[in-house]
Amino acid sequence: MAYKITEECISCGACEPECPNQSISEGDSTYVINPDKCAECVGSYQSSKCSEVCPVDACVPDPAHKETKEQLLAKWRKANPGKEPASGTY
Ligand code: SF4
Ligand code: SF4
Repeated sequence: MAYKITEECISCGACEPECPNQSISEGDSTYVINPDKCAECVGSYQSSKCSEVCPVDACVPDPAHKETKEQLLAKWRKANPGKEPASGTY
């Protein structure tokens, strides 16, 4: 399930460099997550890194993007060509 950033976002920028899939960018009023790239951190971490670093809990799972682990891992592979996923993360 891709994550999304809510209106609580204060645009601090902390999440952007932490995303292993380069899914986060600065939007007009908040930072935004590209649901086509966010893999819920599957392949890199055991839990969502953006949600871990966000000071205002603005990074949350988006129920509009339900996906299987296989689909999430496929997104990770696309974002990290030539690499192997970290064990225990998928
Ligand atoms: S959950 Fe992980 S992959 Fe998705 S936007 Fe956050 S840091 Fe990036
Ligand atoms: S870490 Fe949280 S508050 Fe900071 S830019 Fe990301 S979503 Fe917004």
